[in-house]
Amino acid sequence: MAQPQIALSALAKLRSKFAGTILQPGDPEYDNVRALHNGMIDKRPAVIARCRNEAEIAASVAFAREYGLEIAVRGGGHNVSGRASVEGGMMIDLSLMKAISVDAAMKRAIAQGGVTWGEFNRATQEHGLATTGGVISTTGIAGLTLGGGYGYLAGKHGLATDNLVAATVVTADGQVVRASDSENPDLYWALRGGGGNFGVVSSFEYHLHPVGPTIMAGAIAWPLTQAREVLRFYREFTESAGDELTCLAGVGHAPDGSGVKVAIIGAAYFGAITDGEKILGPIKEFGSPLFDTIQPTGYSDLNSMFDIAYPKGMLYYWKSNFLAALDDNVISTMVEMVERCPSKYSGIFLEHWHGAAARVPQDQTAFVYRREGHNLLVLSHWYDAAANAENIAWARDGFAALGPSFAQARYLNYLDQDDAADLAGPFGENYARLAQIKAKWDPRNVFHLNQNIQPAS
Ligand SMILES: Cc1cc2nc3c(=O)[nH]c(=O)nc-3n(C[C@H](O)[C@H](O)[C@H](O)COP(=O)(O)OP(=O)(O)OC[C@H]3O[C@@H](n4cnc5c(N)ncnc54)[C@H](O)[C@@H]3O)c2cc1C
Repeated sequence: MAQPQIALSALAKLRSKFAGTILQPGDPEYDNVRALHNGMIDKRPAVIARCRNEAEIAASVAFAREYGLEIAVRGGGHNVSGRASVEGGMMIDLSLMKAISVDAAMKRAIAQGGVTWGEFNRATQEHGLATTGGVISTTGIAGLTLGGGYGYLAGKHGLATDNLVAATVVTADGQVVRASDSENPDLYWALRGGGGNFGVVSSFEYHLHPVGPTIMAGAIAWPLTQAREVLRFYREFTESAGDELTCLAGVGHAPDGSGVKVAIIGAAYFGAITDGEKILGPIKEFGSPLFDTIQPTGYSDLNSMFDIAYPKGMLYYWKSNFLAALDDNVISTMVEMVERCPSKYSGIFLEHWHGAAARVPQDQTAFVYRREGHNLLVLSHWYDAAANAENIAWARDGFAALGPSFAQARYLNYLDQDDAADLAGPFGENYARLAQIKAKWDPRNVFHLNQNIQPAS
C-alpha cells in the first residue's frame, strides 16, 4: 500500500509529546530498531514510535490515522511473518516498555508490552512463581499471549492466554481501556487468542503459579539413525503423560550448530524432583543418546536452553499445522525430510498439546483449538540469502507431503508471511464472534497488519 508523505512539522509536534523516541530513516538507531527477529524481513517504516506509555501509544495511533499511515505493532518482534513492521507506515514499538511488577501474595504479575519471556521469568522466579510462556526466552510476551501461547507449563496451567487475568488496551480511537472478566468482557474474550486485531495492549496481568525454581527437565538427543524409534517412543510416552509432564520432540540438527543430525526430546516435569526422576526415567533409558541434559534444572534455564538455535537475524521460514494423528507416515516423512535438508540448522518439531490447555471449552476464549494432540512445525533456518529458494522449497514440499495427516486447525502464532488468510484454521468456529467484536472496537480495521479479522458488517 502506498504511504503518504508526512510533514516534518507534524513529526516535530508528535516528538514534543514523547518521552520515548521517534525515529525516521537515516536516524542512527533506525536500522537496529526496525530489524525483527527474522532476518528475512526488511521493511522500512516511515516512522518508528518508540512508546513509553499509553499516552504515547494513543498519540501515535492518532498520528498514523491522521496521516493515513498503516500501523504495525511490535512487542518482542519475534513473529516469523514480520507483521510487527511495515513498509512506509508507522511501527509502534513497545520494546522500551519493560516494567514488570509481581504481587507474590496474590500470585499476580503485571508486565508491559515490550517484555520478553526471559525477563518475565526472571522477575517471577525470584518469588518461585511462573506462568505459561514460550520455550525461547527472547520471544515477546505480547504476541505470544494474544495468539494463544504454548509452553512447558501448558499441560499443568493452560496456555499463556488462559492465565491472562486482565489487559490494558489502547483502542483504535485512542481510548485506554481495561479488559477483564468484569470490564469489557467481550474485548477480554477476543484478546485471548484473537491476536493483535483489537488494539495495542500496553500491559498484561497474569495469574502466577508456584513453579520450581528447580524442576526435573532438559533435552536428550539420539543420532538420526534412531529417529523413527525415538518418535514412536515419544508418541507412546505422551499418550499417558499427566498434566505435570510436557514434552516436545523433533528431528533435525543439534542446537549447537554443529550440523549433527539428531532426534531430540525436550521434557519438563512440574512436580517433586523425585517423582520427575521416576517419570522421566524411561526417556533417559531409551536407546543410546548422544547427550542428555535431563536433570534438576532452573525453570528459567529450561526456557532458554534452545535459545542458541534461534539467533536474531537468522533467516527463518516456518510452516505448521496440528496433526490429526501422529502416525508412522508422519514419522517417516519427518525423518526423510531431515535426510535431504539443505541447511544444517533446520528441523521438524512436535509439540504435545494436552492437559489444562486442552480442557478449556472452545468458546471460553477466542483461542479455539482445545484438543489433545501434536502440533507439527517445519522450521527452516539458514544464513545465506542466496539459499532462500531451496530452503523455502524444502519446507513447502515437506509440509505438502505431510498434508494428509493434518487436522483442520493451525496455530495463529506460527503462520508465516505467505500463509493465506485461511482464518478457519486458527479461529475456526470463533471467527464470527471475533468479527462482531472487531466491528465494535476497530470498525475501520486500523489494526490490520496481523492475521486479520475483518470487522463484521
Ligand atoms: C524462536 C521462536 C520461538 C517461539 N516459541 C514459541 C513458543 O514456545 N510458544 C508459542 O506459543 N509461540 C512461540 N513462538 C511464536 C510466537 O508466539 C509468535 O511469534 C508471537 O507473535 C511472538 O510475539 P512477539 O511479541 O515477540 O512478536 P511481534 O512480532 O512483536 O508481534 C507479533 C504480532 O502480535 C501483535 N502484537 C504484538 N504486540 C502487541 C501488543 N502489545 N498489542 C497488540 N498486538 C500486538 C501484532 O499483530 C504483531 O504483528 C516462537 C517464535 C519464535 C520466532
